[in-house]
Amino acid sequence: MTAFDPALSLSRRTAAVEEAAIIRMAQKARDLEAAGHDVVSLTIGEPDFDTPAHIRAAATRAMEAGFTHYGPVAGFPELRAAISKKLKEENGIDCPPAGIVMANGAKQAITNACFAVLDPGDEVIMLAPFWAAYEGIVRMAGGVPVVLHAGLDEGFKVPASRIAAAMSERTKLVMINTPCNPSGAMFDRAELAAIAAAIAAHPHALVLADEIYEYIAFDAAPSSIAALAGMAARTITVNGFSKGFAMTGWRLGWGATAAEPVARAMAKVQGAFTAGPNAFVQQAAIAALEGPRDEVARMRATYQRRRDVIVDLLAAMPGVRVYRPAGTFYVFPEVSALLGRTAGNHRIDTVEDLCDWLLDEHKVATVPGTAFGDARSIRLSFATTEAEIRKGLARLAEAVAQLS
Ligand code: PMP
Repeated sequence: MTAFDPALSLSRRTAAVEEAAIIRMAQKARDLEAAGHDVVSLTIGEPDFDTPAHIRAAATRAMEAGFTHYGPVAGFPELRAAISKKLKEENGIDCPPAGIVMANGAKQAITNACFAVLDPGDEVIMLAPFWAAYEGIVRMAGGVPVVLHAGLDEGFKVPASRIAAAMSERTKLVMINTPCNPSGAMFDRAELAAIAAAIAAHPHALVLADEIYEYIAFDAAPSSIAALAGMAARTITVNGFSKGFAMTGWRLGWGATAAEPVARAMAKVQGAFTAGPNAFVQQAAIAALEGPRDEVARMRATYQRRRDVIVDLLAAMPGVRVYRPAGTFYVFPEVSALLGRTAGNHRIDTVEDLCDWLLDEHKVATVPGTAFGDARSIRLSFATTEAEIRKGLARLAEAVAQLS
């Protein structure tokens, strides 16, 4: 009898996915705090606001009214109709309610989409820097990431010509995220039109457009690729309630496409894995969509003020280059000029070294860009108070000044 080794029981699928660096850094920050250190965490990927009261009240009412049973797998018809209307009025997207599949968060909507369309070996074009979770989802679904990169000098936006050049008959999905986590970059309508033209040449390719930060855009209104001529059926638009409405813990998002067979396949995946999202949360979501938006606007204005504070503080640091995010609550400074330097007996060779050193020695938690497919930048979240931002950035400035 040989000893049981549970590691040998794991699927190749799970082994292909690494623990997210964001989770590792956030945990390390919590461990330091538990040990009595005063840590400033700039790793947070969620609003620091509570869900608006009228949405919470709607959930309570729905619970009392008996929305405590299973609902339809793809979501309640009245919510899907409200989203269809929202997509038309706010985004210019023609998507019937039958094309909308509610999910337990945008993350699950992305998972549904990937499992609905990817066969093993299908290629997925991913534009780095990208949200860390995409790669794990794509790999678990059997997809092969084809990563294209754009740095700060290109405004973190991969030009359509490079997307066109990377596409092949094996390309099944092109994933875009606008406004983008982690860079804050936002594609404008002309850039999206150029991407759409690249896709049009490949009849089996679809776009997955993650618009979860739609309501956290500062300088211009975001554009949707699915609103462009011919793109409503070539796009799965993913969105949700987590960020704009400060509803991360509620777990509600959706995938929307005018290609109803694709929507049916997404619902089939969801039916196989979860039976669909929470019933009373969906009722509250109708209140979120149809109720007042003043708190959404107030949160956005607050993020915008913080963005300006954090960008100005970063811009004043030698060796740090910063791009002013057009949306989201992240900033992604380029720090490659700091690599290869030393502080005492610490040598900082990589952005991971830098983030570990910042946390260990200066008690400020950030996330290395490698978590997002970028080895030259680090991500700072400004979903925290201005006082914390100033405190964290003062520590960062002091740390940077020590490097020689
Ligand atoms: N897409 C992006 C780009 C995100 O940053 C996040 C959350 N960090 C999600 C999707 C997932 O959102 P949800 O809470 O709706 O699953």
